[in-house]
Amino acid sequence: MIQAIADGYVALKEAIFEHALLPALYAAGLMAWEEDAAEWLDFALFGALAVLVSILVCAPLERLRPVERWDGGTSTVGTDVTYTLLNRLGLLPLFAFVILQPVETAWAAGLARLGVIPPTLETVVPALRDWPVVTFLLYVVILDFAEYWRHRFQHRFDWWWALHSVHHAQRQMTFWTDDRNHLFDDIIAALWFAGVATLIGVPPGQFPLLALVMRVAESLSHANVRLAFGRIGRFVVVSPHFHRIHHALDHDAGVPARVHGTNFAVLLPVWDVIFGTARFSPGYPRTGDASGSERLATGSWWGTQVEGARRLLRTLAGRG
Ligand SMILES: [Zn+2]
Ligand SMILES: [Zn+2]
Repeated sequence: MIQAIADGYVALKEAIFEHALLPALYAAGLMAWEEDAAEWLDFALFGALAVLVSILVCAPLERLRPVERWDGGTSTVGTDVTYTLLNRLGLLPLFAFVILQPVETAWAAGLARLGVIPPTLETVVPALRDWPVVTFLLYVVILDFAEYWRHRFQHRFDWWWALHSVHHAQRQMTFWTDDRNHLFDDIIAALWFAGVATLIGVPPGQFPLLALVMRVAESLSHANVRLAFGRIGRFVVVSPHFHRIHHALDHDAGVPARVHGTNFAVLLPVWDVIFGTARFSPGYPRTGDASGSERLATGSWWGTQVEGARRLLRTLAGRG
């Protein structure tokens, strides 16, 4: 089954490349970019697949058991859809390509010059080579641990919060909100994730599946749906209920979202339990961030980007 999907995916990619991308490059006289374009298509197509799976999983749930209904229209959800499409199909792949590629090349070249082969999970524990599924799960756990701390730092440091507040400003949270992040924040996140993945030696072949699992789980955790995973399940995977508490508008009346200090986990709530930041309070609170401007909450993609950058500059200038 998985093999069939993988084969279909490759066939689709090749068809798009041969019948659409290549002729377009040829027509534009950009054949020198053929190899780069192929890599970009890889990213974009994978992004589209992740969006599709997220829609298939989350949209029916949001319809079935929504937490909130917005009778006055869902105007700000459109902004998050724009975020998702730009991130997963265009901007992020481009950044990953433009920024990560040279960093990765320089890193590899530097290590080679020094004659260093960095240790990876499988070289440190050779027995793991015989247990591919266990190794895969270990990668997930380690990467998720790194994500937990990145998220905590986003709330901890003033400059980082200025960027992350773009994510929290949304008052009409849906599964699209997952991708609502400032561009600068996305770049940091991509470097962080790829850095850790390289450090522990995730094989390139496993990287897409890993990213897909985490992206779909993250989309689901933002979904506008009444869904908790029960007494035991709530400790296993982050549910929409668990992450909604992280996004709560009035956690303790009047306190901005930033200082809630709860439920930072991306995939595994166990980090919050271990580090004392878990909160399983009942109910489905409204979401948003009282410390942000109206434009940050209801602005367009561009408006929220500008507002986030402004907030960052104000913070750096010491004017909060
Ligand atoms: Zn947060
Ligand atoms: Zn979130």
